[in-house]
Amino acid sequence: MTDGDYRHLYVVMEQEEGKLVPVSLEMLCEARRLMDDFNIKYSSKEKVVALLLGDGVKEISKDLIEHGADVVVLVDNPELRYVRNTIYTKLIAQIVTDQDVAAKIESVDVGNFKKPRYMFFAADSVGRHLSSTVMAELDSGLASDINKLVIEDLPLTHQIKTAGKPLIYEKTLEMYRPDFSGFLWTTILCLDNRNPTIERDYHPQACSIIPGVFETKEADSSRNGKVIEYSPRFDQKDLLVKILDRKIIKSEVDFDACKTIVSFGRGIKESPEENVKLIEQLASELDAEIGISLPLSKKPISINQTIDSKYFIPDRVIGSSGRKVSPKLYIAVGISGAIQHLAGMKDSEFVLAINPDENSPIKDECDMFIKGKMEDVLPLLIESLKTQKKVVQA
Ligand SMILES: Cc1cc2nc3c(=O)[nH]c(=O)nc-3n(C[C@H](O)[C@H](O)[C@H](O)COP(=O)(O)OP(=O)(O)OC[C@H]3O[C@@H](n4cnc5c(N)ncnc54)[C@H](O)[C@@H]3O)c2cc1C
Repeated sequence: MTDGDYRHLYVVMEQEEGKLVPVSLEMLCEARRLMDDFNIKYSSKEKVVALLLGDGVKEISKDLIEHGADVVVLVDNPELRYVRNTIYTKLIAQIVTDQDVAAKIESVDVGNFKKPRYMFFAADSVGRHLSSTVMAELDSGLASDINKLVIEDLPLTHQIKTAGKPLIYEKTLEMYRPDFSGFLWTTILCLDNRNPTIERDYHPQACSIIPGVFETKEADSSRNGKVIEYSPRFDQKDLLVKILDRKIIKSEVDFDACKTIVSFGRGIKESPEENVKLIEQLASELDAEIGISLPLSKKPISINQTIDSKYFIPDRVIGSSGRKVSPKLYIAVGISGAIQHLAGMKDSEFVLAINPDENSPIKDECDMFIKGKMEDVLPLLIESLKTQKKVVQA
């Protein structure tokens, strides 16, 4: 491999009916931060490239440049109005390996360009699917659900990768993901095989990024960038699946209408039915909607059918795989505070957590922590709210 084989950080944008999905700008701002450092430390020539596919989306390009893209590769075509995995996968793989596009990105001949150096996708329902199929097409690896990124030179000795010799892997993307409810961090690396017997490159180094974990910076209207319009080549057989109609089904759980949300997690497990009843009472006193953590939607606890079908449902899940909420008051009962859950509620104005374990990550994320079991704390809270209501009404 030569250094010119792999270049730039490509970020796959997501939009819905011509409006950017928030995680797109979050990824772009993080890409800018990383490449600002990269440009100082390694090379000023490599760019942040936003890939924007859709129908009638040209106007968005300006927004992308103002949020950090050096270049936008725009594919505006009626066939791309909605994401169809086969077409999107083929097109993205085509664009990011296209030498003409690469030449336009840098305005120079890039003779040996092969693939992107890095690639970002969103870790949502569209991006999770797309990232895996695009990376299969590009024959490289993928780290999913990432919430921290670092680029640096990494000294490494590995039996397989380096045949036991110490080597420096330059410009390596370290991709961090939270595991075991955020109690453990895993660092994922996508490294070339430098062992002469199994030599092989793995590029791009790619990941999907959890929505809500990176900040979107203010748009900078003084930024300049380039828009490259790409004419797609479709294979008719990829267009056989047509989207004839599309309905957005509004959830029956209306979190937006409530000032308070009471959410519960696996901490209910010791006496689930009694605990859910307590949570219902608390929510009723506060005129609150009820949310859950993701594991409960996978039915890990046996409970009566009425409670199960009312509460243990995907519609109530708060987090990166569920709903994003921003109430005035968020009460997390028996929830540890995994990063994926936090991504859904971190914009709440005030967070109260009830948990017996002071080492739970939620303790660092809340405004008030009540150390205790919900069985003990909730009855006191409910009683106190009832008393206060009587005082106010008197
Ligand atoms: C790709 C991916 C996406 C994910 N998306 C989401 C998502 O969108 N939303 C989400 O929530 N999770 C998501 N997760 C799962 C997430 O990583 C955590 O596993 C999950 O949030 C943990 O749920 P929990 O807090 O209910 O359970 P746990 O982590 O098991 O925590 C239970 C908590 O209850 C406390 N507790 C125990 N007994 C009591 C008691 N009697 N009273 C009060 N507290 C008690 C414990 O101290 C503990 O802190 C995702 C994971 C992955 C890998």
